[in-house]
Amino acid sequence: RGVKLSQQFAVIGLGRFGRGVCETLHGMGYEVLGSDNQERLVNQVLQDHIVDHAIQLDATDPQALKEAGIFEFETVIVAIGNHLDASIITTLNLKEAGVPKVIAKASSEVHKKLLERVGADRVVFPEYEAGCELARSLTRPAILDCLNLDPQKSIVEVKVPEAFHGRTVAEVELRSRYGLNLIALRFDDKFEINPSPSQKLHQGDIMVVIGDNNDIERFLRSQH
Ligand code: ADP
Repeated sequence: RGVKLSQQFAVIGLGRFGRGVCETLHGMGYEVLGSDNQERLVNQVLQDHIVDHAIQLDATDPQALKEAGIFEFETVIVAIGNHLDASIITTLNLKEAGVPKVIAKASSEVHKKLLERVGADRVVFPEYEAGCELARSLTRPAILDCLNLDPQKSIVEVKVPEAFHGRTVAEVELRSRYGLNLIALRFDDKFEINPSPSQKLHQGDIMVVIGDNNDIERFLRSQH
């Protein structure tokens, strides 16, 4: 099958997590191959049109993976969380066959360590990560959206605070007072990139701000 498959993804395990991965990638227009050892789940993803192809196979069997063409994918997601042995063996099979990027779901710390040992390029911990995310969103309700650039820096979307209503970008002095840079303003679904200093801020507008997390926290606290 000598074609380059970089825009194609294979997902092994079609439980809740695997289905979520399939549905989102497929929805974005990527070609997705789904697989599971349960025929019912394979048929389900085909019926729901959240994959392009689906195959029933036992991913612990290297020959089955090879025959399905899965070794030729650039990126494979191992979405087998609750079957530790199958998850480890599958990941090992993929890395031994030279799949460049294997992303695996772990269900415990030990599971994560084992996946890393057998060569997983990235291990995700969805329940744990969703818990952290929920905690952050509960304690920072003012943040509408957040992109963590690294552990210290983020881009966040915040509503224009009341104290800023009717004032201009220059007047609120985000940079000198908080060390934050306003990179855009959002009005409904429209963005104004690099707003001018004379631009007025209104109730309901959203500021897209980049900066240090400490500075972002300090800014948010100052608004209460
Ligand atoms: P979730 O929490 O996302 O629902 P699960 O770990 O419960 O995830 O589901 C994992 C899926 O992986 C199940 O649908 C299961 O049938 C499938 N699976 C388990 N072992 C294998 C295997 N050896 N080969 C292929 N699929 C497997």
